[in-house]
Amino acid sequence: MPKYLHLRTLLFLLFLLSLAPGARAQSQAPALLEPDDRYKADMLLVVAHPDDDTVVAGYLARLALDEHKRIAVVFCTRGDGGGNNAGWEAGPALGQIREQEAQRALSFLSIDNVWFLDGFDTPGQNPLRSLDRWGHGKTLGDLVRLFRITRPEVVLTWLPDSVVGENHGDHQASSVLATEAFDLAADPTAFAEQVSAPRDRTGDSNLTEGLLPWQPKKLYFFSDAFEDFGPYWHDPAEASPFRPNLMNGRGPSYDVTAISPARQKSYARLAAGEQAFYSTQEGKLGLDALNSGNLRDWEYPVRLILGKSLVGGAVIGDVFEGVSAAAIPFARARGYEPETRSSMALEIGDPWHFYSIFWSAHNLERLSGLIPVPEATVSYGGQLAVALRACNWSAQPAVLELAAMLPAGWTDKTSPASYPVRPGECYPVNALAVAPPAGKAGWVELGWRASAAGKPVNTVRVRVWATPDGGR
Ligand SMILES: [Zn+2]
Repeated sequence: MPKYLHLRTLLFLLFLLSLAPGARAQSQAPALLEPDDRYKADMLLVVAHPDDDTVVAGYLARLALDEHKRIAVVFCTRGDGGGNNAGWEAGPALGQIREQEAQRALSFLSIDNVWFLDGFDTPGQNPLRSLDRWGHGKTLGDLVRLFRITRPEVVLTWLPDSVVGENHGDHQASSVLATEAFDLAADPTAFAEQVSAPRDRTGDSNLTEGLLPWQPKKLYFFSDAFEDFGPYWHDPAEASPFRPNLMNGRGPSYDVTAISPARQKSYARLAAGEQAFYSTQEGKLGLDALNSGNLRDWEYPVRLILGKSLVGGAVIGDVFEGVSAAAIPFARARGYEPETRSSMALEIGDPWHFYSIFWSAHNLERLSGLIPVPEATVSYGGQLAVALRACNWSAQPAVLELAAMLPAGWTDKTSPASYPVRPGECYPVNALAVAPPAGKAGWVELGWRASAAGKPVNTVRVRVWATPDGGR
């Protein structure tokens, strides 16, 4: 009898357990949290320095205030290397102040998602020098992280090319990084720690980040070339006579003389107002324009260059043409493909050589025709260093001889003049031209001709804006 009872009790208990809500059902997970929508961006602007945003501020005002687009901005440096028009603070202290100026300037346009990377403000015109100093890999990882947080539909950045204008190497470096991040952010093998789920979301010490891969849809560029007029320069005589205006027909153009319905002011006036926050830089230009009411220098259209679109749309069509809310899958960029060559050649060196392979690797072939012959700036009395490559793609060792072809008054200081090159090698050459001591501002063409064993090989040309003002 006791034995019988024992078995019966056990069966009853098992029955009760089968009726009770199981441990499994009670612990069903809630719906997966979606990415934090507060940081979603329709457009992500990637620039180098606080105040780079002023070049496109009239367009940003239209987007943010009247088209209700969500805009995020990434500054790759804090502008810590410049001079201070407002006080004695310099270096890192200036960088901290410029971060505040940028946040206030963009907040004036109702843009509050503003991020800063830790690149050092690096003077020069070579983006590779900037990238080296910033720590290219670390900065790219930081930018890819922000792409995955902001999930931009459209990315707008500086033109990744050498132009004659302000032509800061940092500007170009920011656009190189933005292009790379555009092509990497949807690739889960790129910075995989960012897209690996955290071990315990609400717990401590999570060392992976739980982001999702993200593929932006369109990539646009803006420029500080002489022919892209704005408050800083707008003299047609400064544009190159050797080629068409690089902004023509390459992307949309936005009028900024229209009145913002939200603010009842022109976009040009809003752009001048935005600039006025940059007291340590050229804020006074904006302030003076507001005070005088003379906004003429601010009323040039904001012109963009289409880099690439993964969703179609006309080249000169609206930036958001073809963009819908639906996410798109990872689009693989072509990547680097070695060229096959078989002869000797004198080539342009970096950064121009870099760009020629960079554009192709990132499906930006449309940039290769913008400035067909490299351009640079030099002051009268100064030296122009031009990186060349003496390449031997033939099967035999060779010696390449260089000879300069310079305008009257210019002096070639390239030394040595001949380079032994084994098959498959490219010898780096620093060509050096000294400008005449004085002269009128204008464009000239310089060249270096290569020959081997007395036979001509080819010539590399560079077009130069020579200026007496020592500036740009
Ligand atoms: Zn800048």
